[in-house]
Amino acid sequence: MKKLVIVGGGNAGTLLANLLAGKLDITVIEPNDYHIYQPGLVDFMLGELNEDAIKRPTGALLRLSIKWIKSKAVKIIPEDRTVITEDSKKYEGDYLVIATGGTNKDMFKLRGYHTLDEGKTIRELIENPKGKNFVVGSLPGVIKCPAAPWEISFLIKRKYPEANVNIIVPVKQPPQLQVPMFNLFSKIASSLGINVITGFTITNVDYEKKLIISTEGEKINFDNLTLDTPITTNFTDLADKSGLIPVDKETLTFKDGVFVIGDANNTPTPKTGASAHFQTEIVANNILSEIEGNKSREKYRGEAMCAVYAGPKSGALVWLNYEKSKALGPSTMYYYMKKTFTYMYWASLYGSIDIILKPMFSYLSKNN
Ligand SMILES: Cc1cc2nc3c(=O)[nH]c(=O)nc-3n(C[C@H](O)[C@H](O)[C@H](O)COP(=O)(O)OP(=O)(O)OC[C@H]3O[C@@H](n4cnc5c(N)ncnc54)[C@H](O)[C@@H]3O)c2cc1C
Repeated sequence: MKKLVIVGGGNAGTLLANLLAGKLDITVIEPNDYHIYQPGLVDFMLGELNEDAIKRPTGALLRLSIKWIKSKAVKIIPEDRTVITEDSKKYEGDYLVIATGGTNKDMFKLRGYHTLDEGKTIRELIENPKGKNFVVGSLPGVIKCPAAPWEISFLIKRKYPEANVNIIVPVKQPPQLQVPMFNLFSKIASSLGINVITGFTITNVDYEKKLIISTEGEKINFDNLTLDTPITTNFTDLADKSGLIPVDKETLTFKDGVFVIGDANNTPTPKTGASAHFQTEIVANNILSEIEGNKSREKYRGEAMCAVYAGPKSGALVWLNYEKSKALGPSTMYYYMKKTFTYMYWASLYGSIDIILKPMFSYLSKNN
């Protein structure tokens, strides 16, 4: 049996292992005991879900034949399809897949919201705000789920209607593919009374005076600050200038037999669970195609999707691929879609909800 080594047992790594279980000899290297459903961190931070709803033991999500190595990879040698872990063990595969996600850049001592511990700090801040002035947003660069800061601002305003909520958008004009999302979210923000500040690139955060300062000298006061920073891969020796690992954007190949899926790669598509999911399916299919020879190869076309809470019982849906995008809603349907996915996520890690996801994507891509 061919050997597959997967580095990272998050959204993409777990799905890939489960899709190929029984067909290859699979090893997953993942240091964490628990897998977190990251989109659910938003519900968690707002006090709408508890910890148990968004976490599951790592081992319980992997099919029985998969070997889980509870350790951290410290070196990846793509030429040899080899990984070295922190305890100096070496794992070599016929195939190597890097699915290590992204890590927040350390900037201005800002706290991110990608882990459960970070989510707990922000939950505490939102439950016990230090004043009525909230500033939410991101710094320039590739962040996890660009819709998340908007969603957080919508939910804070919903929780504290009297609060002064500002959302910082670092660019003046979003890239073409993000225009439908930007226009819809700006409309929702305005209907909720949220102040949208575009083109604000932070050059300093003054925690004493509670000010963020832009490169152009503009200042914004905050009592409560939640700003996301761009992500990079920890494997900097493999990264390009973007800080992420370069791949062929259709096959997700880094080198022969080495693939990078999910947030860790430099595909020009938003870093979302949906893109991680669809990239994983492409790589799983193409590995099987090579081994079994009875399947045709597939290409990833940049598909990504994100449902967000937009207000009381109201939600929005953003869909895109490498060529086009659309933003739908607000509507009650997308609100419940987002709520329901918290429970469906765990099944999605086995590929079990593709029966719903695939026709939905096909419908969205055809109807403009
Ligand atoms: C607050 C928030 C809201 C979001 N909302 C949405 C949403 O509404 N819709 C959506 O589609 N997406 C959303 N996302 C994005 C989505 O969660 C990510 O895009 C998705 O989890 C990426 O999957 P991944 O497998 O690439 O990375 P991850 O799921 O982050 O997994 C990476 C794994 O690699 C492991 N790892 C890291 N370094 C090493 C190492 N050195 N050795 C071994 N293992 C390692 C980590 O422990 C982790 O388990 C959101 C994210 C956040 C934070």
